[in-house]
Amino acid sequence: MSDAADDAQDYETHRRASALADAAPKPGPPPLIIDGVACCAECEEPIPPARLKALPGVGLCMACAEELEAER
Ligand SMILES: [Zn+2]
Repeated sequence: MSDAADDAQDYETHRRASALADAAPKPGPPPLIIDGVACCAECEEPIPPARLKALPGVGLCMACAEELEAER
């Protein structure tokens, strides 16, 4: 009985995690590392630290990410 409930909860936890991952903005290409600084893969401008903190692993600056979104 409790095993079934645990299984159901595990299942729900996994489903929710993957749904959230799907809903999160796609990181796109990895950033270029120039002199140890993460830079935009498109325009090669340094990515602001605040953006990197908000979107870890993001490879595009705000302007290029918006451009990419607009193309979709
Ligand atoms: Zn850029």
